[in-house]
Amino acid sequence: MERHLLPDRHIGVIPDCRYARRTNTNNRAKSILKERPDPGAKEKEEKKCIFCKNCNHKITTFENIIPIDGLYHHTCKNPVGLVFQIGCFKDAEGCVIYGEPTEDHTWFPGFSWSFAHCSQCNRHLGWFYQDNGRSFFGLILHNLS
Ligand SMILES: [Zn+2]
Repeated sequence: MERHLLPDRHIGVIPDCRYARRTNTNNRAKSILKERPDPGAKEKEEKKCIFCKNCNHKITTFENIIPIDGLYHHTCKNPVGLVFQIGCFKDAEGCVIYGEPTEDHTWFPGFSWSFAHCSQCNRHLGWFYQDNGRSFFGLILHNLS
């Protein structure tokens, strides 16, 4: 799995030599989610797309951003302490899903997860969550552009 350390002031990441870079990443992640879809601007379709940062493959669109538990953007910490800024998307056509769904350490109670990778370069982009017919992608904003 790709390991990206992302900041979370609420969790109290201690500043270190990578602090400036982490801060930029955080601001960038937030700026991705600030660009809200404009339903009237069909000619700007390409600008609504979100791409794999590694290979530029189209992954999803801003129109797919949905709130989960009331938030479009979640800061999640895995069992070994890595923090991820993830955005929630109702669909991500550029992803392929790997692995048997599991609820182990799930960040969204009731939802099981599988890995979501870029279908072109196979980079790990996040996770696919499902629960009795409901599903969404939680994608690591640092890995998108
Ligand atoms: Zn890719």
